[in-house]
Amino acid sequence: MTRVSRMLGAAARLAWARTIGAALPYSVTFILTHRCNFRCTYCNAPAAAGTELTTAQVRRALDELAASGLGRASFSGGEPLLRADAVGLVKHAHSLGLLTSLNSNGWLTGRDLDRLAPYLDMLVVSLDAANSAHDEVRRQPGSFERVLEVLTAARARGLATATISVLGAWNLDQVEDILSLAARLGAWAYFQPAYIDCFDHLPGLDPAFAPGVLAQVAERLRVARAAGLPVGASGGYLERLARGPRFGSCEECHAGRYFATVMPDGTMVPCHLASRQTPAPNGLESGFAHAFFALRRDKFGPGCAISPYQETDLLFRLDARAISAAMRRLAGPPARAAVGGPR
Ligand code: SF4
Repeated sequence: MTRVSRMLGAAARLAWARTIGAALPYSVTFILTHRCNFRCTYCNAPAAAGTELTTAQVRRALDELAASGLGRASFSGGEPLLRADAVGLVKHAHSLGLLTSLNSNGWLTGRDLDRLAPYLDMLVVSLDAANSAHDEVRRQPGSFERVLEVLTAARARGLATATISVLGAWNLDQVEDILSLAARLGAWAYFQPAYIDCFDHLPGLDPAFAPGVLAQVAERLRVARAAGLPVGASGGYLERLARGPRFGSCEECHAGRYFATVMPDGTMVPCHLASRQTPAPNGLESGFAHAFFALRRDKFGPGCAISPYQETDLLFRLDARAISAAMRRLAGPPARAAVGGPR
C-alpha cells in the first residue's frame, strides 16, 4: 500500500469518526520500553523501566486496534531500538496499512536504517542543541555527531525525518540554531517544553518557563517559519504553546477519545502525561480495542504542550492550520535551506 493510499485511509477514518461522533483509536503511541541507553538530564523514564509486552503481544495490540480503526502507530520509549523486535513491529504496523513513525535518540538508529526505511513514514530523532552541548544534556559524548550522521543517512534513503527538541534552560537560546541545522539536514523541527515528571503534567514545567517565556518561544517559532525555517508545528500548536503554562484543558482534549498511549506493560492510558491520574485498563486482560473504549476520559489539568498529542487533538477539531501542516509534512521533506548558523 502506498503512502498516499495510507494517508487517504487515515483521513477517511478521521472523517468517519467525526461524522458518527464516536470514539476511535485513530492514533496510538506504543511506548515499547522505558529502558534507555542514555540518562538525559531532564528525563525520568529509565527509572520507570519494568515489565514489557512481548513481541506477540504488541503485534496482537496492533492487530486488534487496526481492526477497530487505527490509522497511525508511533513507537517510542525510552529508546525503542533497544528492543530487538522494534523494526519488525514497525514492519507489522506498515503491513496493516498504518502510517508509522518512530522516535529515537539516534545512537542505535544507523544500525537499523536499511531495515526501517521501507516501513517508516517518519523518523523522529531527539536533538537538544545545535552543537556538542547536546552531548551534555544527553550525558553521552559523541551523540550530537551520531544524530547528524543518522539524519543524513536517513534522508539519503528517502526517509522523511524530523527532530524533536525538549526545551529548558539548557537550550532556550538555541531555537533558531536548531532550526537552521534542521533546515540543512532536510528535517522538520519540533519543540516542546520539558516537564518536571515525564509521566505527570501536574507537577508542572521545567522552572525555566517563567510566565511569558513560552509566548516568546512561540513568537520566535512564528518568525522563524515566516523566514522559511522548517518549523514542524502548526499555527494552532504555536497558539496553544503561547498560552503556557496553562495551555488549554485536559477535560476538553481528545486524548482517550481519538488517540491514546500503550505503556510498556500493556496499560492503555489517554496520554503518558495523564498516566498517573486514573486507573487504566490493561489490554492484555481485556483486549486492546476493548481497553481503548473502556478508557476513562475524565482527565483534568491545564492541558499540555506535547507536540504529537496537540497536533492530533487539533486535527480532530478540524483546525485548518493543523490539517495543512500535517499535509505539508506528509507530502515530503522541507526544502533544504542554505542558511547560516552553527553546524
Ligand atoms: S492536554 Fe491532552 S494530551 Fe495533554 S496532558 Fe492533557 S489529556 Fe494529556
